[in-house]
Amino acid sequence: MKSSPRALVVGASAAGLSAADGLRDGGWEGDITVLGAERHLPYDRPALSKALLFADVAVEPRALRTPEQLVARRIDLQVGVAATGLDIDRHLVVTDHGHALPYDALIIATGSQPRPLFTASGERLPVLRNLDDLARVQRLVGTGRPVTLIGAGFIGLEVAATLRARDVPVTVLGSQRSPLTSSVGDCVGEWLHGLHRSHGVELRNGVKAVSVSGSFGDYRIDLDDGTYHRAEVILAAAGADPTDAWLAGSGLALNKGVLCGPDGRTSVPDVWAAGDVARVEDPRAHQRRRFEHWTNAIEQGRQVGLNVAGAVARPTPGMRSFWTEQYGRTLRVLGSREHDDVDVAIEGDLASGRFVIAHARQGETHAITSCGFDRTLRGYRKLLQRDAPLSEFKSLTAEQLAST
Ligand code: FAD
Repeated sequence: MKSSPRALVVGASAAGLSAADGLRDGGWEGDITVLGAERHLPYDRPALSKALLFADVAVEPRALRTPEQLVARRIDLQVGVAATGLDIDRHLVVTDHGHALPYDALIIATGSQPRPLFTASGERLPVLRNLDDLARVQRLVGTGRPVTLIGAGFIGLEVAATLRARDVPVTVLGSQRSPLTSSVGDCVGEWLHGLHRSHGVELRNGVKAVSVSGSFGDYRIDLDDGTYHRAEVILAAAGADPTDAWLAGSGLALNKGVLCGPDGRTSVPDVWAAGDVARVEDPRAHQRRRFEHWTNAIEQGRQVGLNVAGAVARPTPGMRSFWTEQYGRTLRVLGSREHDDVDVAIEGDLASGRFVIAHARQGETHAITSCGFDRTLRGYRKLLQRDAPLSEFKSLTAEQLAST
């Protein structure tokens, strides 16, 4: 008698759990096992830099699934187990517990991890990616010393905002002209700069840390403009890399992430990928893209699960989509801004802190950045999806957009 098919998902977070749900919803009748390297039950990762960091006591994070939900869906979640290798010929995943787990379908959802920064004496500077990191960051912040963030990406900025809400003195060192410029353009970047400055953050733009010396309480950060900055506590927020080292030598095509077709299929039969680790072909953009955003991980994971379970393989949703919360405001970005796009005001204005800005070139709109206009966002998403010209973004009324 043939045994039921086995699906193995490696990575138990947004993409991995959504993939498991997609498998079940797509009619996968066989076993589903999800492996997670962290010791904790999967939790709401974006809250790490927001509510969880704000609370200076240990707060239980929101669980992504209850044990009852997992049982009801027959999903076998194994936490504290890391995959260490993949044997594509024998269809096996090897774990750090010394087991070799067979699969009929494998979904790789191992996410990404912060780019490590070390001091001259080899100290690895703290980062914020998981609950264990949070415990370390809380201990450091609890000393009451001023904090310097290396990196002004959205995680660095969120951490800065949350620490200011706790009255911690904060300096941010960022490499772009203004914060998040490449994603949101200069106008919004400058607006963000102003927002942080008005909350007491010292923000230095256009500088890169080239080396860090010293130790806790007395660091020196040398910058590429020849100056240096003294810091008591440093948090590194200098970007992330896909967690794909465990796949090296497996035969799977990798290039700063797992290379996938539009439907999440990798270069190897029966192996798929989703979430931060996946570099997915976007036929519209004629390139492979990798996003590091929560909603993308959920949408991609779910679609890959459905694709594995079903006969038809649909492309995963290709549009970049993220939000960031700073000082009680939520900035939302849809689409991918291109470097020579111009920024066009569509609704509201930066001065009021409520705005929708389109990022466009020659009438083609590539992305939208909004703050305080959530009602019309769904409409803009639809316009972006069908490559509507900039004139349409401008001409529809708020009511028309909300009902699109
Ligand atoms: P991950 O969430 O990284 O999960 C991968 C999991 O796989 C991890 O638990 C990891 O331990 C596990 N794993 C890795 N290797 C192995 C292995 N070999 N074997 C088994 N398990 C393994 N995005 C937004 O859009 N908005 C936000 O506001 C936002 N805020 C964020 C704040 C912080 C502090 C951080 C760190 C991220 C934030 N993000 C945000 C990004 C978002 O959290 C990620 O895009 C999302 O978590 C990616 O989901 P994923 O499932 O692909 O990967």
